[in-house]
Amino acid sequence: MLEVTFVGAAGTVTGSKHLLTADGTHAFVDCGLFQGTDDVRALNDAPLPVAAHDVRAVIATHGHIDHVGYLPKLVRDGFRGTIYCTPATAALMRIVLDDAAHLQQYLAERGFHHERPHAPPPYYDERDVERTMALVQAKPLDEPIDLPGIGRVLFRNAGHVIGSAFAIVEVADRRIVFSGDVGRYGRPLLFDPAEIGPADVIVCESTYGDRTHPPQPLEELRAALLRGLERGGAIVIPAFAVERTQDILYAIGKLQQRDARLAALPVHLDSPMAEKVDDLFASFPQAHRPLGDAQPPSFGCRTLTVHVTTDDSKALNRLSGPHVILSASGMAAGGRVLHHLHNHLADRRATVLFVGYQGAGTLGHLLVHGARSVRIFGDEIHVRAAIEHVEGYSAHADRDDLRRWLATCTGTPEFFAVHGEPESAAALCATVSHDLGWHAAVARRGERYRLA
Ligand code: ZN
Repeated sequence: MLEVTFVGAAGTVTGSKHLLTADGTHAFVDCGLFQGTDDVRALNDAPLPVAAHDVRAVIATHGHIDHVGYLPKLVRDGFRGTIYCTPATAALMRIVLDDAAHLQQYLAERGFHHERPHAPPPYYDERDVERTMALVQAKPLDEPIDLPGIGRVLFRNAGHVIGSAFAIVEVADRRIVFSGDVGRYGRPLLFDPAEIGPADVIVCESTYGDRTHPPQPLEELRAALLRGLERGGAIVIPAFAVERTQDILYAIGKLQQRDARLAALPVHLDSPMAEKVDDLFASFPQAHRPLGDAQPPSFGCRTLTVHVTTDDSKALNRLSGPHVILSASGMAAGGRVLHHLHNHLADRRATVLFVGYQGAGTLGHLLVHGARSVRIFGDEIHVRAAIEHVEGYSAHADRDDLRRWLATCTGTPEFFAVHGEPESAAALCATVSHDLGWHAAVARRGERYRLA
């Protein structure tokens, strides 16, 4: 008997966690943290449907925190099984989990950036991360892996972040595909998502299931940078250290080749984590497209300075004239970018340029929705800087990308939408049943699906 229980990312975008049960043996596909508003974060404290020590394996599709960030907690709670992922995902997981352990510690001590003065105690620390990494078995793409007691799993390229995969789980003669997060077609740094082939069930992300990304983000980015240049102050770009930073550096490099006004614009990367992610691009050349002369760490950006230490970071406060500061996190929910926002938000000459999705409850969300004043590190800051928002630099497939990817399935699977706000999950189901003729449903948290 085979069952899938939707434990996380069902009705929410974050907290990806799908429990697979075959004849009494349990495995998770992904094991992520819930993030965002208090209500969503509280789900991290909800009991799992199975004891951690009864889980035999975790199949991790990629190294984002909402897919692997719960693992050290699972280990703290007694998990002693094996964690399977690709080699680049294992390396990224290490970076992301170390950072998460530090961030939880930091928030517990210093508090949130706005409104809420206190954070809950950390879920785990560096020792738990260490014990988690000891359970990882890295396996390459496209090689079947035995899952004792369950069957086999195959990772195929998902094109979302470096190392990302979707997982095809074979149990007896049934094939269940877990999309993880699906990337976009035609991205400069990563390969396109691989084909699905036959499947009986597909559990698919739906982050952008109800919309398409703007086609020309490079032109929008150019226009936003030029407006920032005109204003004359800092251009702060909050960017996820994983991938988005590299995409933006690559894009700025392209723009610098074409536009003399941008060619000399100094770019400062202030993110120790981004620097580690750059190393991944160097260490796993087979996990991304050939980069030609756009090698890490600059990815083709001609004026890049990388800042690693906190002293380097503080030195950025003394800069004058137009300059770009790229720093994490992308939704301004933590990280060094908070210091730069604290510094520049009240400056009329400054620009804050968001380049991705801003989740509800984050400082980024408040700012792109026109907040006139925000609280950072306990200080009330009147927003005078220009707020720009360039969409289209998403690492996620949009509706058209998802439809294109799903059409590479050769069967007529049962389809479940996960990892999306309710509207986008429902919209993707409507597209799938209309265009592909499959039975499609939005997965609900706690719901169990039994394969005959
Ligand atoms: Zn992801």
